[in-house]
Amino acid sequence: MMRFKLCYEIPGRPHHYIAPQLLEPNSPDYDWDDSTNLILRYRYEFMPKGILTRLIVELHEFIEAQQLVWKTGVVFTNTSARAEVIERYDKSEIRIRVSGHDQKRWLSAITHEIEKIHRSFTSSDNPAENRLRYQTLIPCNCNTCKGRQAPHDYAYNRLQKFLSDRQYQIQCQESYAMVDVRQLLNDILYVPDPLLHPEGGIRAESDPQGLPLQDTSSILKTAQTQLYQPSQEIFISYAWSGDSEEMANEIEKALATTDITLIRDKRDLGFKGRIQAFMAQIGQGNAVIVVISDKYLKSENCMFELVEIAANGDFYDRIFPIVLPDAQIYKPVQRIRYIQHWEQEIAELDEAMKSVGSANLQGFRESIDLYTRIRNTIAELVDILKDMNTLTPDLHSDSGFSELIDAIQNRLKQD
Ligand SMILES: [Zn+2]
Repeated sequence: MMRFKLCYEIPGRPHHYIAPQLLEPNSPDYDWDDSTNLILRYRYEFMPKGILTRLIVELHEFIEAQQLVWKTGVVFTNTSARAEVIERYDKSEIRIRVSGHDQKRWLSAITHEIEKIHRSFTSSDNPAENRLRYQTLIPCNCNTCKGRQAPHDYAYNRLQKFLSDRQYQIQCQESYAMVDVRQLLNDILYVPDPLLHPEGGIRAESDPQGLPLQDTSSILKTAQTQLYQPSQEIFISYAWSGDSEEMANEIEKALATTDITLIRDKRDLGFKGRIQAFMAQIGQGNAVIVVISDKYLKSENCMFELVEIAANGDFYDRIFPIVLPDAQIYKPVQRIRYIQHWEQEIAELDEAMKSVGSANLQGFRESIDLYTRIRNTIAELVDILKDMNTLTPDLHSDSGFSELIDAIQNRLKQD
């Protein structure tokens, strides 16, 4: 797919690819300052599919935050200017709006790529026959049209003809005002400073339909590429039912108002699959909320997660425990009961294994190993939890989890 320019690798995320034709149909929400935009439109006699797709692939490094891209549109940025490109089949049109500073420069980088794509539709055998038919439309700059999102516009080739016939005025069809043809072109065409870019400038290659191909390599070279910004992700480990699940729901709600994404194990994978997926996530995660309950401390799945979190290092800094009242971990005599619980599990399993042929012991041995790991680490884990400054569940709820969220945000800032 890379070879045919149908997809691209996301910058900063090796082996993650986006195929623009498979993107969401609806545009994401984003702000746009439409006060002083540079607008240019291409209108096609017959609009071929795939122009925008190819443009997205060519300029994918400049997609804003690697997020503002959808099936029929994209926003490219060089950090000082933003260019929004929208494809509209109902109007057989592609519209470009540029906002920000140095708009002409950024517009020329975008149009350069679009013109290159247009020219690729020319057949080498018979250029005249296969040529894509379109008009490049330049917006009027008269007082009535200026700043409007739908100004009157002039075909680029019409303006060129006026120029070559030495007609320097053209009439706006909206306001009837006479408009300077050279100024209209000057508003759109970027002319690089010849001192700074001795090689630059407009190339002689003529195309009456589209803008001249300008040398934009320096523009693209100096533009900053937009790296993927993963949203801040944290994990939650909790027992599946009752108060634990309710607590997990409350935390999820509280975090929904922040920029933190809660990865919540959906518990719908098989035991092995679930654990493997979760382990992989824990490996990347640097913050894990742990909802500790009596059930959690006695659950094979939950304790496996806790033991794995500990095994990944930085246990004390990475976990954010919430201890439910039924988790009796504050008195040594009560903590010993959890250790006894796991020793009893081991003893029962050991007993059961004696009645099974040695060929069938594989799964049992794994469980014994796991229970032994849990028993060996539970004392230490519970001790750490006991020393941590964990608020009561009621205090968390009443404050909207503000202390928890602050602590997590501080932790995420450290990385
Ligand atoms: Zn006008």
